Amino acid sequence: MANTTICGIDFDQFVLDMEAFHGGRAPGIVVGGLMIEAAIMEVAETPDLTVVVETYNCLPDAAQVLTHCTTGNGGLIVYDWGKFALSALDKKTRAGVRTHLVMEAVAARPLIDHWFNPSRYSGNRPAFEVLAHELMAARSELIGMKGITMKQSEKSGQKKKTALCPDCGESYFLKCGSRCSACQGMAYFEYT
Ligand SMILES: [Zn+2]
Repeated sequence: MANTTICGIDFDQFVLDMEAFHGGRAPGIVVGGLMIEAAIMEVAETPDLTVVVETYNCLPDAAQVLTHCTTGNGGLIVYDWGKFALSALDKKTRAGVRTHLVMEAVAARPLIDHWFNPSRYSGNRPAFEVLAHELMAARSELIGMKGITMKQSEKSGQKKKTALCPDCGESYFLKCGSRCSACQGMAYFEYT
């Protein structure tokens, strides 16, 4: 899309960056890019930037393509809430903004509504190029934003204290409890 940018990056280059990182073209990453662009106007892209997303779908990759924040460096926090929302804040002051999808704006645009609520429509979802164009055209009404302060976690002081699990003997974060999460019955695996 000529003459269109996200976070100062030419849109076509953004799509190439997205494909390289995410493995394909995803409208959700376009929306995530618009959220980051709106948020970064309020909270600067400094080493103190923290991004928080409220779904595992697409938004984590938008943050990792467009900012230095990753899950591995601690700059990106992911909540598995299934909500298309993204916050950006300064980790020193804990002040920032939370962006979300404006549902009225989604409902008002059939192409975007079809993508977001596919069960309400028959036929295939709109093609990426068509949808991306619509998302970019709707950017000013699609993304809502409010100021926030991040709550201080009760356990933030001892966030990284470790202990050896009395059952399996492996090291784990003490904040998880008196034994590791796997030994508390939350294991996602069983040994073969
Ligand atoms: Zn254990």
